[in-house]
Amino acid sequence: MTNTVLVSGGSGYIAGFLIRQLVAEGWMVHTTVRSLAKEAAVRALLAVDNSRVKFFAADLNADAGWAEAMAGCSHVAHVASPLPMGVPKDANELIVPARDGALRALRAAKAAGIKRFVMTSSVAAISYGRGRGVHHFTEADWTDLSKPGLTPYIQSKTVAERAARDWMAAEGGDLEYCSICPSVVLGPVWSRDYSASISVVKKLLDGSLRACPDIGFGVVDVRDLADLHVRALTAPNMAGERFIASGRFIKLREAADLLRDALGPEAHKVTTRNVPDWLVRVAAHFNPVAKAVVGELGSVRNQDASHAKAVLNWATRPVEQSIVDTARCLIDLGIVKP
Ligand code: NAP
Repeated sequence: MTNTVLVSGGSGYIAGFLIRQLVAEGWMVHTTVRSLAKEAAVRALLAVDNSRVKFFAADLNADAGWAEAMAGCSHVAHVASPLPMGVPKDANELIVPARDGALRALRAAKAAGIKRFVMTSSVAAISYGRGRGVHHFTEADWTDLSKPGLTPYIQSKTVAERAARDWMAAEGGDLEYCSICPSVVLGPVWSRDYSASISVVKKLLDGSLRACPDIGFGVVDVRDLADLHVRALTAPNMAGERFIASGRFIKLREAADLLRDALGPEAHKVTTRNVPDWLVRVAAHFNPVAKAVVGELGSVRNQDASHAKAVLNWATRPVEQSIVDTARCLIDLGIVKP
């Protein structure tokens, strides 16, 4: 029998790769978008058999549409959540849709008799509020929301996953819930409407990042992440599971050098300079982007994905490949002009 899965946020970067893989593996897919005006453009990008994907209008901030989107589905991948390019002044702009949207999707899933609900959380919910140093994180860790300086996005992902798990414990019944916590998602890009995570490579390539602060990030490839979602949708006994989805941690400096080495003249705008920590601290007083990274200076956040590898037999490609493939697509699509 063909299974039908709802993927929320079908216009998004990760959801696009996930929908493609699900269709390729024989699933019927329902997907939500905020407005059906986006349907034609998303279908064109997905480029899959149109009869395998059905679109529904549903917003994380409203109840309308979620029940219809889930009718006839057995599984849900709840991927939608706001991931803006900038930092909003009011954290609730992200926290409210992330948390309430997850709870809306969970309530609708239970009412529709969904078997399994896989939520795309983030390492933002795992590894922040720890201060400077070399850290090793597993699924047992949670971001400490009591610490100052957490960005609205970090708060939104932590609050949303906590709220989802609390709701499951109190009201989940037979619904099976698990979460996937990716680090920075890179890899091929299909369109100019790319995810905020891609902008780190774009800013290096187009030279708008004029010097590298001493920060870094774990990287996961969007293709591997889609694959992990499919594994979590289909493996037995996933109730309560949590999976870090990350390759190794890479410093921005190393990523910049990698781009210069791999792309040669096409990466001539990639900076060779570093910015000292004191300058980032000064800039943090008036620049929201510097403020968002000041707590990261000098830190190494190793995200341990061995649980996903052991339980779901998951494999990742090297982070170097994901970074170079991101850059290649940005150049090929004309988003960055070398
Ligand atoms: P994306 O391309 O920006 O996708 C976000 C999706 O969420 C879009 O489809 C967006 O719809 C939808 N969305 C936002 N606000 C909404 C609302 N109020 N109602 C309904 N839909 C809404 O980002 P992505 O990288 O694919 O991220 C997808 C998920 O992965 C998110 O949960 C994100 O937190 C998580 N994640 C991403 C990364 C990363 O590095 N990219 C890392 C860890 C976790 P519109 O197109 O209408 O805006």
